[in-house]
Amino acid sequence: MYEKLLSPLDLGFTTLKNRVLMGSMHTMLEEVPGGLERAAVFYAERAKGQVGLIVTGGIGPNEEGVVAMGAAAMTTSEEAAKHKVITNAVHKEGGKICMQILHTGRYAYHPKSVAPSPIQSPITPFKPREMTADDIERTISDYVKCAALAQEAGYDGVEIMGSEGYLINQFIVKRTNHRTDEWGGAYENRIKFPIEIVRRTRERVSENFIIIYRLSMLDLVQDGSTWEEVVQLAKAIERAGATIINTGIGWHEARVPTIGTVVPRGGFAWVTKRMMGEVNIPLIATNRINMPDVAEQILQDGCADMVSMARPFLADSNLVLKAMENKADQINTCIACNQACLDHTFNMKVCSCLVNPRACHETELNFLPTKNKKKIAVVGAGPAGLAASTIAAERGHEVHLFERGKETGGQFNMAKVIPGKEDYSETIRYYNRQIELSGVHLHLNTNATTDLLTEGGFDEIILTTGVTPRKVDFEGSDHPMVLDYVEVLYRNKQVGKCVAIIGAGGIGFDMAEFLSHDHGQEPPSLSKEKYMEEWGVDMAYSQAGSLAVSPKPAPSPREIYLLKRSGGKHGKSLGKTTGWIHKASLAMKQVKMIANVEYQKVDDAGLHISVNEGETEILPVDNVVICAGQEPLRSMYEELQAKGKTVHLIGGANVAAELDAKKAIKEASYLAAEI
Ligand code: NAP
Ligand code: SF4
Repeated sequence: MYEKLLSPLDLGFTTLKNRVLMGSMHTMLEEVPGGLERAAVFYAERAKGQVGLIVTGGIGPNEEGVVAMGAAAMTTSEEAAKHKVITNAVHKEGGKICMQILHTGRYAYHPKSVAPSPIQSPITPFKPREMTADDIERTISDYVKCAALAQEAGYDGVEIMGSEGYLINQFIVKRTNHRTDEWGGAYENRIKFPIEIVRRTRERVSENFIIIYRLSMLDLVQDGSTWEEVVQLAKAIERAGATIINTGIGWHEARVPTIGTVVPRGGFAWVTKRMMGEVNIPLIATNRINMPDVAEQILQDGCADMVSMARPFLADSNLVLKAMENKADQINTCIACNQACLDHTFNMKVCSCLVNPRACHETELNFLPTKNKKKIAVVGAGPAGLAASTIAAERGHEVHLFERGKETGGQFNMAKVIPGKEDYSETIRYYNRQIELSGVHLHLNTNATTDLLTEGGFDEIILTTGVTPRKVDFEGSDHPMVLDYVEVLYRNKQVGKCVAIIGAGGIGFDMAEFLSHDHGQEPPSLSKEKYMEEWGVDMAYSQAGSLAVSPKPAPSPREIYLLKRSGGKHGKSLGKTTGWIHKASLAMKQVKMIANVEYQKVDDAGLHISVNEGETEILPVDNVVICAGQEPLRSMYEELQAKGKTVHLIGGANVAAELDAKKAIKEASYLAAEI
């Protein structure tokens, strides 16, 4: 099982215990008070979980290069000394850890940003200052010093971040390097910056210090590198003294999703495969590799020597250990939602994980065995109920989980049928296995009435009864053509060729995505060839940056209107790092988004609306699908309280307006840790 993945990787001077790299993630722990101590516990848990090599979040080599004002840098021995808590903790668990050196260049979110040329990026509000030749020499020295300090701090190596559109990448391509001196112009000049950084770093650090170079193998922007140029740089980086080359996919400003849930699992490993055989040092494949079987297949297919997984180690610190023990069915899988990791980072909040709220909170959230065993009833087997019941049972309580329906999973049963959200089924699989392992008594098809709960001898009751779709109230809202989202996504009600969706929140967007696919066809999220075609990535790499002439999305089988009453643009409530993907996807499917809508009535002619208080118009639709939010299902709460019971109300049942799996699982986990 996982023969290649679990085999050691000999680097000559040291051996990695397996082929799994925990990729760099900016958790924000380095930036908060006491954060390095928290980071030490976070990384040590992953080292204990047997990951082969860890890479930290990006650390700036100087003030100009940091992500934002006050963000982490390593410029002095004092700063290096503070990192020893991390390196000692990881080494104590038998792990290895490299520090990533990241200079953000024009992506810096502060006014001191610098770049090879003064060209502002489309995703930051600051115009960078053009670096002088002296600045460039000083910056190379800063990289080298930073690497030496990392060695002083006890790190096993560094990763030099050369991809994703950061400073090094900005030097490499014409798009951002318009210089006419020795650092610009011909490709040989543009790549001198990374080569000198690696060469001088190798000169400064000892031979047995790992240098990973993260090479942008696929820029996915106009005027990016050609494949021949990427290979030329890889060879030069090897000659300059790198130990390993990691793969970088897509600049942050690229308009092709590279890590979102819509990306097929392991969907970009083909890029690393192209590089195999071009250099003699190990290559690492990345992006959307979230389970050991996906990783093993990539190695078996000869795509790489090693794989990088980042977010999967937020979701489960023991991913590798579980693979080693042949317990992949117990892995809490990263579903690539970005809701508690990247969305937090971009909002300057400490990272966590939607499916594992302990991530980056290991010092405050722990599930210790109970000294006071209780009999607990949990009502509702959606994400909140699943988390509460399995954690409480694991701690030693007797837990009874009641579910009115025929299966567990709640709202995730609807999410998992949306094309691009197939991985949500993994969370249900994970919890179902946890139910078996922790000994939760599961009662499906059971209506937990107030009487049952009062007379069942329960010490505490947790209500996670969730929500019911909100009904709309206008003439004809009971017309047979009107459906709600549960009827479509869960009860398989058929929808005609022309459809109006009422409500443009997360579920309205999901519904539009669902209806814009032909369900007889495999979705792009399950086929890398279809995915690359849909988003305009040229797998033949015939153009610089590898963008195809134009994306070729499969046409929507339906004409779709996505309507909302409020003004402004659609999609404001969606996640910071994923909203643009949902919007771009629906735009490609030509979904018509209309705001400022007043709903008047539904009749056999269709949906009657007025837009911007204008004349009535009729949308000649076959169906109207209501995605207008939810109402909480919580009537039992007051009744049980009146009967003197200890009752907890969590998830959507508490505040339906905040229905959100991240919040539900987090609330459930904190409650179950204390109960
Ligand atoms: P929502 O985000 O609250 O959106 C419901 C929409 O329905 C509102 O935007 C509102 O828009 C409209 N609406 C509300 N009351 C209405 C009424 N009486 N008549 C007509 N329209 C009405 O709820 P949701 O879409 O059901 O999502 C629930 C939660 O699930 C969200 O909080 C989100 O966290 C989560 N979720 C997120 C995603 C994602 O990010 N991709 C996907 C699925 C679910 P107007 O007032 O403008 O008409
Ligand atoms: Fe993965 Fe979502 Fe957790 Fe981030 S929050 S690690 S994307 S499951």
